[in-house]
Amino acid sequence: MALSVHLLRPWQKLLVGSTASVMTSKWSRCSSVLSGNRVRMVEKSPNSTDPETSQGVCTIHGKQQQQATPISRAVFPPQAVFKRRFSALCGSSEVQEGALIMEKVCLNEAARMVEVEWSGGGVSRFPYVWLRDNCQCPQCFNPDSRSRLVLMLDLDVNVSPVRVEVQGGSSLSVEWPDGHQSQYDRHWLRERCFSTQALSERQRDWHRKTQLWGADLAHNLPKADFPALLTDDRALYDFLIRLDSVGLVLVQNVPCDVGQVEKLANRVAFLKQTCFGKDFEVVTKMNPSDLAFTSVQLGLHMDLPSYNYTPGVQMLHCIEQTTGEGGDNSLVDGFNAASQLKEENPDAFRLLTTVKVNFNYVGTDHHKYFFRTRQNVISLDDQGEVQSITYMDLSRSSILDLPADLVQPFYDALKAFNTIMYLPRNCLSLKMAAGELIIFDNTRTLHGRSAYSPDSGTRHLQGGYMDWDEIYSRMRAIKADLGIED
Ligand SMILES: [Zn+2]
Repeated sequence: MALSVHLLRPWQKLLVGSTASVMTSKWSRCSSVLSGNRVRMVEKSPNSTDPETSQGVCTIHGKQQQQATPISRAVFPPQAVFKRRFSALCGSSEVQEGALIMEKVCLNEAARMVEVEWSGGGVSRFPYVWLRDNCQCPQCFNPDSRSRLVLMLDLDVNVSPVRVEVQGGSSLSVEWPDGHQSQYDRHWLRERCFSTQALSERQRDWHRKTQLWGADLAHNLPKADFPALLTDDRALYDFLIRLDSVGLVLVQNVPCDVGQVEKLANRVAFLKQTCFGKDFEVVTKMNPSDLAFTSVQLGLHMDLPSYNYTPGVQMLHCIEQTTGEGGDNSLVDGFNAASQLKEENPDAFRLLTTVKVNFNYVGTDHHKYFFRTRQNVISLDDQGEVQSITYMDLSRSSILDLPADLVQPFYDALKAFNTIMYLPRNCLSLKMAAGELIIFDNTRTLHGRSAYSPDSGTRHLQGGYMDWDEIYSRMRAIKADLGIED
């Protein structure tokens, strides 16, 4: 049943034009923050009361709609009430399923948007071109591959509907000039609402819920049971959640033989190969390609900063531990250290977030390699939050592409950051026992190792890497499979 069909006449286009342009610029600013996926948690109040936007939504159906007769059949509540209802319906995830009914639909030709009014008074606006591009019919969208079949080559970005209607309160029907018919489900539309508040709510999906930590994490170390990780998807999911938020998990009850790192990686996705090969052994070697393969102290570092696609996560499985002194791992939350640097020494923080440092890695292991990158020691995301740390003394290049006057301040800043990392309150010490495995965020949790005597028995670790894309993908898939709520 068609509830309403409205088309604006040419003279009516003039009535709504100015408001539409305000809204468009505001919204495009909001949508730009959706581009990243490794954004630290930033608590922000929703923008639902933003006067500019709220005014914009209302104005279309405010004074002006009194003149635009064809769309004035809808009776709109006073603005304050409208705002509240709009927030409740269009922007909030607390919508009652029963309340999600499309009451009216109209075309706003000036803004080139289809406007859907929900029961209760909220309005969602869907741009014409977006609707045409996202037609869900079998000609335009393949449900098996969940892929768009409409090619940009064939998309008329200036297309306008000739007719819109709501069917049964649950489906929006659109007819296009070539006779093509599109149907859009109310829930599908609701999930894709362009309102400021809906954009703000969806932005939370992109936030990383980071828990900063210091040395006292040793008393409360996130732990996981290896056999459970291999068999129980929920246990695997909870483990990955903690890996993401804390950046460090101790896995216990791991068999003391090689191949376990790969087994764990295969439960998530697969190992990331590097110049070390599929995985690597940390044992004392003759003529080592890397200082890791000696018994000397290793300063706090990440692995492979000289990769543009640096491994996201590192695993170190202790197969055999030295019985003598040393061989402990130091672990530091680089995000926590960066946040302390920002507080205590903003100039140093600014320098490390803006100055690019060269990292090189040249040698032979699995094959002959020569890597180089240029990175900020502390990288920020588009919200100004710390996104990753790139830190390793041994592969920081002697070629420093800085004006000479900046070199001393740069070293001062690096030293200040390093000093904070090593503070006893920040630096956690952990001597793994055979059968334990640490897994940590390679671009956040810096790790080091105290020296040990190669004469006090063998120390044998096996290591491997994974990428965050694979981890996040697995987390989302398990979440969907098991129906896990946030
Ligand atoms: Zn279609």
